[in-house]
Amino acid sequence: MTSNATCPECDADVNIPADAMENELIACADCGAELEIISLDPVELELAPEVEEDWGE
Ligand SMILES: [Zn+2]
Repeated sequence: MTSNATCPECDADVNIPADAMENELIACADCGAELEIISLDPVELELAPEVEEDWGE
């Protein structure tokens, strides 16, 4: 089972994988934006904050 949500960036339909978890990051296939799944029921997406690849250590 998959669900769909709307990309907050470009309004495209985004497929939410059946095994998606809250707080998971997915990418919009249309605009490539990183989206965070803030809620699964109902599905809500939010633009993920841009994180530089700066994990140090
Ligand atoms: Zn998009």
